[in-house]
Amino acid sequence: MIPLCIPQMSGNEWKYIKDCLDTNWVSSVGSYVDKFENDFARYLESKAAIVTMNGTAALELALRTVGVGEGDEVIVSSFTFISPVNTIKYVGANPVFVDVCRDTWVMDEDKIEELITSKTKAILPVHIYGNPVNMDKIMDIARKYKLFVIEDATESLGAIYKGKKSGAIGDIGCFSFNGNKLITTGAGGMLVTNDKDLAKRAKYLSTQTKTVLENGAFYHEEIGYNFRMPNVLAAMGCAQLEKVEEYVKVKLEHSTEYNNLLKSVKGINIPTQKDDTINVNWLYSILVEEDFPLTRDELINKLKENGIQSRPFFMPIHNMPPYIDCKHGDMSVTNSIGVKGINLPSSVELNKENIKKICKVIKEC
Ligand SMILES: *Cc1c(COP(=O)(O)O)cnc(C)c1O
Repeated sequence: MIPLCIPQMSGNEWKYIKDCLDTNWVSSVGSYVDKFENDFARYLESKAAIVTMNGTAALELALRTVGVGEGDEVIVSSFTFISPVNTIKYVGANPVFVDVCRDTWVMDEDKIEELITSKTKAILPVHIYGNPVNMDKIMDIARKYKLFVIEDATESLGAIYKGKKSGAIGDIGCFSFNGNKLITTGAGGMLVTNDKDLAKRAKYLSTQTKTVLENGAFYHEEIGYNFRMPNVLAAMGCAQLEKVEEYVKVKLEHSTEYNNLLKSVKGINIPTQKDDTINVNWLYSILVEEDFPLTRDELINKLKENGIQSRPFFMPIHNMPPYIDCKHGDMSVTNSIGVKGINLPSSVELNKENIKKICKVIKEC
């Protein structure tokens, strides 16, 4: 079976984790936590980075850090993994769903302004499947209405928008190191920001708002959270991060190969890459149009029969029971791509022969 997306352990993972076990620094403070934060901030060209126990925690922490709370509204795509939408609810706020672009499948910046009200506090763009959102437009809107921008960059590590790393453009960017992401710590996340005050506040909230008094006692001025990542996982993160540039290069080779083999197949739409951006194609994805001989689900079965794992696109969140009553604009693109899209195998370890085999099965339909 060619799997959808599995991690690769080919660097210093064992060595650094062993170091934690040998020295007994296994828990939530330690040199690898500091190193992972510093190395990640440097890679992102961002001023600060704060580790969290997963990407969802990073998103919740981001919302709490900028002060989104009870009754506020946050504008978010409905075409996304559900995590960012859930975190809006965790802090007592309400998601307001905006449609996505027909070509890039990310938040449609032209449909945002009509959804802004006096309750709107933030915009939460998701760089879906590794394709950057049009951040210039989003930042302009945010400035005009004094809103925060929290980037869900969990799928776009390595993607570039106008020379900047995806995730390092908004007020805060959030990353995930779940097992299927470009680099992994098993479970883990990171919050990045260029604002020193937001960085300080995020670290404070994520570590139980702990102030250590002169006599060593813990004092807490407000309610805090334990969103920390243990040193032993940060060690794995340091090793994975050493490979990130190599992984990004391989991913771009894979998407070029996929694009070349699929671009002339009738009824298949390949991913778009806008000028001035690099789509890292975290999950290389296609749309199955009406003039393709098989339906989307039939193609998924056909791939499965040939030992190839694939997955249908995220279903629109605004149609899911917990969110059915939430405010949204015109959702025509979200509704249509949700039933057409497929994620194809996208592991770093994939080789050209695998990609040829996958594309051959699709062509032969
Ligand atoms: C993976 C992912 C997350 C965070 O996932 P965790 O499992 O909590 O690390 C958030 N948003 C999107 C779009 C994702 O794909």
